[in-house]
Amino acid sequence: MPAADPGALTRHLRHLTETIGVRLAGSAGERAAGDYVAQGLAAAGAQVKQETFPVQCRDVRAQQLQVWHDGAWHDCGCSLFANAPGTEGAWVEAPLAFFDAATGYQRPDLAAELQGRVVLHLGCHIESRENYRRLIAARPAGVLMVDVRYPGASPLADAIFPAYAQAAGVVTALNVAYLDAWRWRERGATRARFRVVGGPRPAESANIVADLPGSEPDAGVLYLGGHHDTQADSVGADDNGSATAGLIELARVLAPRPRRRTIRLISFGAEEQLSVGSGAYVRRHREELARAGKFLFNFDSFGSLLGWNTLSGSGPRELDLLLPAYFARHGAYCRRERGVLPYADHFPFNAAGVPALTLMRLNCAAGRFFHHRPDDDLSRIDVKVMAASLNAVADLMSDLAAAETLPFPAEIPMDERAAVAFCWDDLFGGW
Ligand SMILES: [Zn+2]
Repeated sequence: MPAADPGALTRHLRHLTETIGVRLAGSAGERAAGDYVAQGLAAAGAQVKQETFPVQCRDVRAQQLQVWHDGAWHDCGCSLFANAPGTEGAWVEAPLAFFDAATGYQRPDLAAELQGRVVLHLGCHIESRENYRRLIAARPAGVLMVDVRYPGASPLADAIFPAYAQAAGVVTALNVAYLDAWRWRERGATRARFRVVGGPRPAESANIVADLPGSEPDAGVLYLGGHHDTQADSVGADDNGSATAGLIELARVLAPRPRRRTIRLISFGAEEQLSVGSGAYVRRHREELARAGKFLFNFDSFGSLLGWNTLSGSGPRELDLLLPAYFARHGAYCRRERGVLPYADHFPFNAAGVPALTLMRLNCAAGRFFHHRPDDDLSRIDVKVMAASLNAVADLMSDLAAAETLPFPAEIPMDERAAVAFCWDDLFGGW
């Protein structure tokens, strides 16, 4: 039986990270990655189609930030959030207001403190539509977002959720390095100014959908997923070149195995703006998912050298009990993190009522220390680690595809349904 080949994984990863490079949603790089994965899946014998959807492409030609302390302006690194507007090259200058997201939204009157200011926002994910609405309604001059997961020395790249921007509007938002923010506070910084040339531009992204048809069309569909876009200025070897390369190998490994159920491999576009491609897929195929969708296994950043495999997402307990034996067979282990996680491409499938998990490989308590950074390159990856996980999942999926009846109910646990529905409405804007 064919198995995932570390040499092939390396070859795919080299092409994605070195020949193509950065693969921002809606850009030529993302398109090239989509074409590459489509070719690889077709070469494995899958029936491939592309499904396009609209996206805002982050198209930044220049970005500058300066902060005033100790009697002088200081240049600082910054990265415009996807979906946030630039300044058409003009400088915007305002007093600086320090604001921590964890407790700041308890303040009754945000405008009194933030209006007309550049807000240093400690915590770069506003995981509440109401808090986001209040921040924008306070009319800040701009927002400097600090990722608090890892106290790094360089700005990360990130995105404002499109559903939030659409519902409440958006201002210029720049990611800044945690250690820069710390220094500004320590030095008593009082003012900031920034300019950005470029910003969001309407563009198209695509999901690559590839079928390995089963012999019994009514037996349901099993899904394998990954995303082929990256964040700005990151070649994304782990996030998510690992899964893009992995899907091509999975198609090759699974194609010759007998199956009753169809296995559908989907390489999603535009994950980095909050699963825009996966959201587009479930909105377009809601009926198919309700009728035939059995299970999605999604991969996102699962190749870190050091680290531990972690499975997140909502699915039945019977499924959790099956998984460890498949990993152990290939000398690998994984830890199951329970609870609803809306920040990867499995989540829209959960919202559509389909059990769906994402495999990640964390390497520090805050996640992955090179997350969304330029140094997420090939040196971070172990293709043998990847191959072990891919072989475990290939065995699982071919057993499930061949089974007379599935060994678990294709549904979301009762106690997680309300939280799934809430996140789908709040973060994604619902159906
Ligand atoms: Zn990712």
